[in-house]
Amino acid sequence: MWAFAKRRPEMQSYAYRQWSKAVKLRDNRTCQRCGKKGGYMEAHHVKSFAGNPGARLAVSNGITLCKTCHRAVTKNARQHKR
Ligand SMILES: [Zn+2]
Repeated sequence: MWAFAKRRPEMQSYAYRQWSKAVKLRDNRTCQRCGKKGGYMEAHHVKSFAGNPGARLAVSNGITLCKTCHRAVTKNARQHKR
């Protein structure tokens, strides 16, 4: 599937949207970090997107975060790399 998606960026974004939707649905649109429910939510990859191609579209590798928490988590991940 991913060999196909790699050559078709529009399929990749479609698959990503489906993944994101599935993650949020599983978490009942509740932020898994602060517990905020409803509103604008984002699906975050637990394992890094770049380092784990096989886990990119696994719902088990996603958590629902509100925008504030997603930003905080992403910022922390970047700081760890330095
Ligand atoms: Zn939150």
